[in-house]
Amino acid sequence: MLVAFLSAGAIAAKATDERPLPNELGSIMFLMYHQIRSPERDYVRSSDNFRRDLENLYNRGYRLAHLNDVVDGHITTEAGRTPVVLTFDDAAYGQINKIISNGREIWDPECAVGIITEFARKHPDMNVAGTFYVNPFSNNMDRKNSVRWAAWMQEMVDLGFEFGNHTTTHPNLKKDTPTQEQVEKEVATLQSWVYRQLPNYKMRSMALPFGIYPEQTEWVTDGTYGGIAYHHDSLMKVGANPSVSPYAKNWNPLHIARVRAQDITADLPVSGYWIELLDKHPEMRFISDGNPNTITIPAKAQAQLKNNLGSKFKIIVR
Ligand SMILES: [Zn+2]
Repeated sequence: MLVAFLSAGAIAAKATDERPLPNELGSIMFLMYHQIRSPERDYVRSSDNFRRDLENLYNRGYRLAHLNDVVDGHITTEAGRTPVVLTFDDAAYGQINKIISNGREIWDPECAVGIITEFARKHPDMNVAGTFYVNPFSNNMDRKNSVRWAAWMQEMVDLGFEFGNHTTTHPNLKKDTPTQEQVEKEVATLQSWVYRQLPNYKMRSMALPFGIYPEQTEWVTDGTYGGIAYHHDSLMKVGANPSVSPYAKNWNPLHIARVRAQDITADLPVSGYWIELLDKHPEMRFISDGNPNTITIPAKAQAQLKNNLGSKFKIIVR
């Protein structure tokens, strides 16, 4: 009798695919990466561990989402899955690279772009997404051959990757560039460098170097220098926890927290701490309803919903 009961339960669980109910007021992780190379150390994730991060996230129901979509509240993640955003700072070593294989130029299978695209080839529902906050001074940007960089960056945009501003020389925007004009120069000159590579691209997001804000936040959201005007809808900080939902009352796109992708335990990479915590408390996790035009929330979370979303979205309380 007991055996019959257990097997019926197993069948029922299989039929429903065990997907959690939607909760679009749950947390979303914006993971922050720097170098991708071996060996693993501070600000360096090894290629193998980055691959494991993707595997781990995928197996736990996370799917890659485009940063600007999340900021816009346009969540296209399939029902029952959790969007996760990957970000890469500094155009650091091992993020963007191509190698010659059998006489053909291919994405380096050990670099971030190569690892993400290969993972998505095997698991198309993971999607291809990731935002690169670049600095042109980086040793890993080949400045002598900007034509090649332009082609790589355009190919990345076509694949679904995004680019963001990280300033031209990576200053502490409060101490190193204390005036508005200095800050605007840093931001505008980086944008003009990116637009030389990607003439049809619109950068909408910025990661603050060291996570440090200038004296006035407006200096980095809107500015002009040398005839170059910029505008950013979102600003990324450094650390230290998952972000609130873009539909939550306390969502502030100019203060988006990022989770540092780094080993906490040997086995559970990326912010293993947060992944484990969100596994233990699934009610904290953003779970998509699969429809970018509706916002589905649990009744008990209703008070956390931002006002005035009803004009743009259909709100479903479950
Ligand atoms: Zn940086």
